[in-house]
Amino acid sequence: MQYAILDGQRSEAVARKRGSCPICGADMVAKCGPRMLHHWAHASRQNCDPWWENETPWHREWKARFPEDRRELCRIAPDGEVHRADVITASGIVVEIQNSPMSDAERLSREAFYKNMIWIVNGAKFRDQFYILHALPDPSSDVARDVVWFKARADEQGTSYGMFWRPSENPDRLAGLTRMVLLRTMRDIEQAVNDAYSGHHQYDWKRPRAGWLESSCPVFIDFGEEWVWQLGKYGASSLPCARAVAKAKLVHDAMTEPHATAIASRFYPIPRS
Ligand SMILES: [Zn+2]
Repeated sequence: MQYAILDGQRSEAVARKRGSCPICGADMVAKCGPRMLHHWAHASRQNCDPWWENETPWHREWKARFPEDRRELCRIAPDGEVHRADVITASGIVVEIQNSPMSDAERLSREAFYKNMIWIVNGAKFRDQFYILHALPDPSSDVARDVVWFKARADEQGTSYGMFWRPSENPDRLAGLTRMVLLRTMRDIEQAVNDAYSGHHQYDWKRPRAGWLESSCPVFIDFGEEWVWQLGKYGASSLPCARAVAKAKLVHDAMTEPHATAIASRFYPIPRS
């Protein structure tokens, strides 16, 4: 943990000091070795929150994007269950910053406990299995109307570049009478797609960590860029799509929007801090 109670104050680890756990009150010892991330650990070696994972520099970097007094906060359920969230913003959104894979059971219990929450997932370990493919126009744009995209696969020249059909040109397909369509490719509408671009892409995730696709809460994958990829569906369709969201935008919205699902749903200039 980054914080413990030391002399009555929330404090980062101070070498050779003992503090107490803000949840269970147990003794905590400062771990401040030269080659480790300075942190507090329960003296008894038993962490009172089974959901807590050991922190990495990646965790700390994310937490540092939020105000200090919003990090490592406890949430208590009416039945007395207590957990420590990575971040709870002033508007009430819980941000869970997840480095390691997690069982579906644990993911579901955290989602049920926090409800209004987002996941930020470290994608470093599966970066080379996650292919960001062709751009999609904003689903509400004119060009997106009357276009049905084929699911793109990284190893297919055609779909990875962009292939679609038009319902207006294929009434029989629309009526389910045939599977034949007049195929069109990105070339036909490339300029219009670029003009209506707002971060959406098709992607192909080989050996996906399926739990993240099934989550009922917004999931953002961090591949170490200045933006993250939000997993989702394209417009009202079932086509999987990933949307680039600037980290600054994510943090700003998480602190101001009342509900997690509203994050990155409205675009406007972010005030400079
Ligand atoms: Zn504790």
